[in-house]
Amino acid sequence: MTGKTPDQMHTVEQARAAVLERIQPLGVERVPLTCAVGRVLADNLVAPYDNPPHDNSAMDGFAVHFEDVSSATHEAPVRLRVVEDIPAGKVPKLSVDNGEASRIMTGALIPEGADTVIRVEDTKDHGDHVDIFEPEDALGENVRCRGEDMKSGDALIAAGTELGPGEIGVLAAVQRPYVVVGRRPTVAILSSGDELVEVGDERGAGQIVNSNTPALGAVARACGADPVLLPTAADSEAAIRASIESALGCDFIVSSGGVSVGDYDYVKKVLEDLGAEEVLWRVSMKPGKPLYFCLLRGTPYFGLPGNPVSSLVSFLQFVRPAIRKASAYPETDWNLPESAARIEHDLVNDGERRNFLRARLRLDETGQLRASTSHRAQGSHMMTSMLGANGFVVLEPEQAVAAGDTVKVQILGEIA
Ligand code: AMP
Ligand code: MG
Repeated sequence: MTGKTPDQMHTVEQARAAVLERIQPLGVERVPLTCAVGRVLADNLVAPYDNPPHDNSAMDGFAVHFEDVSSATHEAPVRLRVVEDIPAGKVPKLSVDNGEASRIMTGALIPEGADTVIRVEDTKDHGDHVDIFEPEDALGENVRCRGEDMKSGDALIAAGTELGPGEIGVLAAVQRPYVVVGRRPTVAILSSGDELVEVGDERGAGQIVNSNTPALGAVARACGADPVLLPTAADSEAAIRASIESALGCDFIVSSGGVSVGDYDYVKKVLEDLGAEEVLWRVSMKPGKPLYFCLLRGTPYFGLPGNPVSSLVSFLQFVRPAIRKASAYPETDWNLPESAARIEHDLVNDGERRNFLRARLRLDETGQLRASTSHRAQGSHMMTSMLGANGFVVLEPEQAVAAGDTVKVQILGEIA
């Protein structure tokens, strides 16, 4: 990005725009319907035919002429001759004339002549005839009409829709054993640092467990990408270079750590040596200032900060939108959803960078959204601040709010 000296930081919006400008949708692929949940539909879906395909019964009961039974009461039931049994899946053979009924099950086709179904509860079945005690309220009751769910040509699901169980059901109903969806990006996740040991390995003096690789892999998956977890690289140019080169087959590369200004922070140097085209370095946010983004032989590369919270927050602000753009989500769905909420306690940002505070969001008794950040301490190394967090409170520099004030929040998870 031009117009910034090395000491200046980009705003979050500038940085996000600079990233997204360089991301293209990855194209589409065909997947079995049974694997399509969570994927993004590539083309508009139009109903190919009417559904239900035929008028059918909404109840177990008797298909009748409404005019025959409209006067029926418990005291003076109407007796009809039963001409046929129609279980679901069978095509009726006989039509129902006046004075007649067909015994019909839920989902079965309405026989010709009949216009109404009387619930079995309002009848007494005598085998070859039936007594009707109560007419339904109106002609056509308990009949599901052809095309009342969808009519041929109806617009059903718009391109760009994330497929949930409801969409999967509709796709099945219109005979789509395969669906065309946005391709799911692969995201290489790599961590570097001599202090890191892998989860499960013995931890010596001065060492910490590499928690970023599993956490970033998880957030990548939660954002709809396929993570590729690489082995941890030592703090050496050669190791980092080998690791980055091994990641080049992926759609995105995400590293954490080694990107700051410490003596052993080699990531930027290695990327420069590999000919990466730097797009941005450092964003005015807390946590997450040391963000590096470049294109490495055309592959978007995110150098996230090493601190666990910083890396997760940065991922959600920058990598998530990139994943979603690449996977065919519409622009309105790239960023985390935002809302206004009432803050439950006083809060101040006395720094110069935008704060993303891990928050608990809840709906109060009146249905209003409330936010609290006091469930855990908030340092960028405090991994536990993410526990139970279903949102971020976004505070601008110098912004001070009192309990009950409205703040901006980003929504991360379900709100109870
Ligand atoms: P760095 O940016 O490499 O200086 O790392 C900043 C901080 O994050 C240091 O305290 C590192 O130990 C920590 N850190 C870096 N990478 C990881 C990781 N993969 N898992 C957990 N902590 C990390
Ligand atoms: Mg390091």
